[in-house]
Amino acid sequence: MSFKDNFIPDHYFESVLRIKPEFLAENNIKCLICDIDNTLATYSEPLPQKKIKDWLDMTEASGVRIALISNNREKRVYTFNSVLGYLTSSSAGKPFTKRLEKLIKKTGVKKEETAVIGDQIFTDVLCAKRAGIRAILVRSIDTRGKPFLKFKKFFERHFMDIYRKRHGNY
Ligand SMILES: [Mg+2]
Repeated sequence: MSFKDNFIPDHYFESVLRIKPEFLAENNIKCLICDIDNTLATYSEPLPQKKIKDWLDMTEASGVRIALISNNREKRVYTFNSVLGYLTSSSAGKPFTKRLEKLIKKTGVKKEETAVIGDQIFTDVLCAKRAGIRAILVRSIDTRGKPFLKFKKFFERHFMDIYRKRHGNY
């Protein structure tokens, strides 16, 4: 694995809602560790929308363990998780891997059967790859009013070009 591979997701989806239990089963993914902001909800939504909650419920019902990992503070994560009840890690310091590794241990699922889902290459994907687990990138739900995120997206495009070359167009 080259250094560059740390920035290239294993899979890409327009939204978490497109990720089906069949896909997870085919890829032997038994635990999903999900980023919150712009992956499951916008920054301004304290709770998951019904369609997101339904997707999480359906995924969990298919036998996949779910946990939440966020660089956001504890209050945000605690409130968001109040209607879900998953294992969580807040102020996780992604792309550093310490909190992710700890969370994976708590889930009891093997690393090889775990994947991280997130919307950012430089935090979510990089964190997963450094920890030696698979990364699923989704499109950010909302980047409006976040010029810094747009700036990062500009650099992420380079890595997504490599992803497309490897996987064919998505
Ligand atoms: Mg995010």
